Amino acid sequence: MRKLDTKTIVVASHNAGKIAEIADLIGPLGFSAKSAAELNFAEPDETGTTFEENAAIKALASARASGLPSLSDDSGLVIDALDGAPGVYTANWAERADGSRDFPMAMEKVEKALAEKGATTTEQRTARFVSVLCLAWPDGHTELFRGEVEGHIVWPPRGTSGFGYDPVFKPEGHDTTFGEMTAQQKHGWKPGDRQALSHRARAFKLFVETCLEA
Ligand code: IMP
Repeated sequence: MRKLDTKTIVVASHNAGKIAEIADLIGPLGFSAKSAAELNFAEPDETGTTFEENAAIKALASARASGLPSLSDDSGLVIDALDGAPGVYTANWAERADGSRDFPMAMEKVEKALAEKGATTTEQRTARFVSVLCLAWPDGHTELFRGEVEGHIVWPPRGTSGFGYDPVFKPEGHDTTFGEMTAQQKHGWKPGDRQALSHRARAFKLFVETCLEA
């Protein structure tokens, strides 16, 4: 396991919601972080078939372009009744013909697919959010961290916080969706805490324990 020995990293993402969450998580650790979007790096094609492959593609492209360690996140919603869909294609389900993203439309697509499977009860609507973080160095070395949070798909969407599919995901053991939680409640974690809630905060905790702590 390689430790991170610089306090400057690039967040290898063009997704405003993810950049904001990673900035929240990184902030207390005293890092200065720039995003690939801010640096005008081109977005690489996500040609992998796993979260790990896509996370590595994004982090390596950014590390090579910037000459700095780069942290990427590849994430998605895995729904059991849909045989794991949308999975690595979670962002694609939100894509419109003009290339823009429409998450209310994507959440409706999910609901329609669940209805077609007859998945109406809570037990039939189990799902998890997955986040794989990749820290890549300019020399090509990578470290990968996976976080998952189990929950259910609810309908109709609830709440306006967060981003993406947050309003339809209710994590196990909670009465509110991610869309109804504050960012702090959704992460459920700050440095030093034992537990984290969101998939991204769980992966981030592993990253901190592996690459930052002695
Ligand atoms: P990608 O990792 O850029 O390929 O896309 C991940 C997709 O999953 C995006 O469409 C996000 O909106 C969705 N997603 C990932 N994490 C979250 C989350 O924490 N809340 C809601 N949607 C998420």
